[in-house]
Amino acid sequence: MSQDLKPIAARRCYACIQWEGVRSYDRGTQMVKVDVGREGKCLVHRTMVKGSHFCDQFFQLK
Ligand code: SF4
Repeated sequence: MSQDLKPIAARRCYACIQWEGVRSYDRGTQMVKVDVGREGKCLVHRTMVKGSHFCDQFFQLK
């Protein structure tokens, strides 16, 4: 799996501040470089979730 550029406007864990997965966020372009198939810890649910996952408590990066 490789990293891709993804928009923060999508309501997915990779774009949520509560996600601790590997990613790099470019504030200027509002894009995240991430492999959405990889898991990271969600600080709300305290479980490992993929970047492509989402839930109702999504809180977007700024
Ligand atoms: S599961 Fe919900 S709160 Fe956790 S990282 Fe994903 S969108 Fe954010």
